[in-house]
Amino acid sequence: MITSVAVIGAGISGLTAGYAIRKKGIAVDVYERSHSISEFGAGITLSKNATSLLDNIGLLSGIAKNAYHPMKSYVREYKSAREIASVELDESFISLDRRDLIDTLAMSFKSAGGNLNLDHEINYVNASTGDLSIKDRTKNYDLILICDGIKSGLRGQIYDNLEPKFTGYVAWRGMVRADDLPKFQGSDKANVYYGPGGHIVHYPTGRDDYINFVAIESKSSWHEESWRTEGEARDLLSKFANWNEGLVHMMASANKVYKWGIFQRSLPQKLFMGRSVLLGDAAHPMVPFLGQGACMAIEDGYALAEIIEGCDDITLALEDFNKLRKNRSNWIQKRSLLQGRFNHVSAPSIMSLRNLITKAVLKRSVSGLHSYELDRELKAIRKR
Ligand SMILES: Cc1cc2nc3c(=O)[nH]c(=O)nc-3n(C[C@H](O)[C@H](O)[C@H](O)COP(=O)(O)OP(=O)(O)OC[C@H]3O[C@@H](n4cnc5c(N)ncnc54)[C@H](O)[C@@H]3O)c2cc1C
Repeated sequence: MITSVAVIGAGISGLTAGYAIRKKGIAVDVYERSHSISEFGAGITLSKNATSLLDNIGLLSGIAKNAYHPMKSYVREYKSAREIASVELDESFISLDRRDLIDTLAMSFKSAGGNLNLDHEINYVNASTGDLSIKDRTKNYDLILICDGIKSGLRGQIYDNLEPKFTGYVAWRGMVRADDLPKFQGSDKANVYYGPGGHIVHYPTGRDDYINFVAIESKSSWHEESWRTEGEARDLLSKFANWNEGLVHMMASANKVYKWGIFQRSLPQKLFMGRSVLLGDAAHPMVPFLGQGACMAIEDGYALAEIIEGCDDITLALEDFNKLRKNRSNWIQKRSLLQGRFNHVSAPSIMSLRNLITKAVLKRSVSGLHSYELDRELKAIRKR
């Protein structure tokens, strides 16, 4: 039986997993290197495949309180903003400020009796014994969850030396007020604009009337030291200067813009080693073009809690986790990359073809992505 779990990293994967496991009556210590759980203010969308799981563990109502329900998503042409295709969404699709998501996860974890240790950077894990080096002492756990994000140093130490690679995409992000939205019908919903060599997304966050936008450009290299830096608005605007006027005005209204180099790291051979297991971006960081990175992190945490509940053999349980999560996250990682290529074609004839394909397949592809039922897969595992 697993009675004690350590979680390294208090991001979306670590806190979801920590909470879901704690709810099973298992003692959980989360270690986070930052002084505070202060997420960067930016938006995030969560789809049904993840929100249905949050609902099952009693977290959705708290999270959705601060969220927005766009109810519809439009794909538009970059210059005219003409609708190429649209899809109705239901209440299960939410957009929100990441700070609200992280705050609710952290508060719920603590209320459930979880132990959150801030200012605790973990640099050594003994995966065979379950020993964790914490400042000047060692503590032993039945299971250690490595949730330290895309740059995971512990993954490098225990699993493989695959370095994250720059994908050729740079994301610009900013927040504006609803008054700054382009003035056409539906601009207050979730919107994606396909252009030549780039795409732009915007949606409300539910926090006051803030709108989050992300503009993605293709770039051959990333020279900045950090993966996220404050960017120059004029650089952003010059990249997208010939896009829709309303869209350009919206981006120009942001007080600050940030830019991210988008990196990816292939999955390791196995998601577990000894008494350690990888979750979230530490296991499968992906380009954000399907809005699924955090959703995968939530699926991971939920799945692991269900699989280890009452298990007698940790290795068998982790084998099940690996089987279930490796194929799924590998597939979503690859599909996300493909979506980037699709979104960024630039020859006019191919752009027209892309728009026709989008019109034909958008509803089916969104529904296929959002309707994945992890619980059904878990039931199949339990039957074996
Ligand atoms: C531009 C952009 C837009 C996105 N939009 C969406 C979206 O709309 N929907 C969606 O589903 N996903 C989206 N994603 C992806 C999503 O943000 C990530 O997949 C998700 O945040 C991963 O969570 P995580 O907990 O695995 O990692 P992280 O959020 O990176 O958390 C890791 C945590 O570990 C801590 N840590 C690191 N090292 C140590 C250590 N040694 N000891 C202790 N603590 C440590 C860090 O401080 C951090 O708190 C987007 C990503 C980007 C870049």
